[in-house]
Amino acid sequence: MPPGSAPVCVWCQATSTTMWHRLPNDQIVCQICYTKRNLLPSSDNNDSSTQKRNTSSSTASSSSSKGNHRDKGNGSSGRTRSQGQAKSSLVSKRGRRSLKKRKPIKAPSAVASIVTCSRIFYQGIKYQVGDIVSLVDIQGGIFFAQIRGFMQDQYGEKSVVLTWLLPTQPCPDHFDPSIFVLGPEEEVCRPMDCIEFVCHSPAKFSAALPTPYAAYAPLVQQSDAIASLLAAAEEIDKSQSP
Ligand SMILES: [Zn+2]
Repeated sequence: MPPGSAPVCVWCQATSTTMWHRLPNDQIVCQICYTKRNLLPSSDNNDSSTQKRNTSSSTASSSSSKGNHRDKGNGSSGRTRSQGQAKSSLVSKRGRRSLKKRKPIKAPSAVASIVTCSRIFYQGIKYQVGDIVSLVDIQGGIFFAQIRGFMQDQYGEKSVVLTWLLPTQPCPDHFDPSIFVLGPEEEVCRPMDCIEFVCHSPAKFSAALPTPYAAYAPLVQQSDAIASLLAAAEEIDKSQSP
């Protein structure tokens, strides 16, 4: 078949068909003859590709069409392989690029927080909540207080929250639980180096220590609610039991 000429079916001499088919012996047949002879199993998936290949090869010279066909046979798989390689290389390239471009996740900056505790070691002495400490003011007067809590700030400095103890006798020079009463609670915290350990919590002041079980006013305020709840529960029990 000369180049540029329209394909002609070698069996029925048809010049137009829905699809041209190239036989293994390099003869071109029309769709009707192709399905009639059923020389090759026609697959629906390769129809368009086969047609494209045939139309393109039909314009090519018949002398080189054999080699062209063989090359195409190999070339299809080669093309898919090269495509696969290109795709994989593209993916890997993209992966590397995105790896390079990706912003590194910032580690959260360490935030020092204040630590509160119920006991603390300071200069070899174990202080705990409730301990009685003494403080000396700028004029040399000595004051006593009870530790209400400890705090360690973000710089590791330990401080203490105090409840002042008020003397019932004028100017005591030593701590005696019998002559002191609980005074105002201080809201600010003082550094640990301004206090001096006197003794652990005496029984008189241990009741003032903060406990998870409120022993004072809150219970009084809640007593009504608790009593009503208990009464309601008792009523429910009575009504349920015959
Ligand atoms: Zn035909």
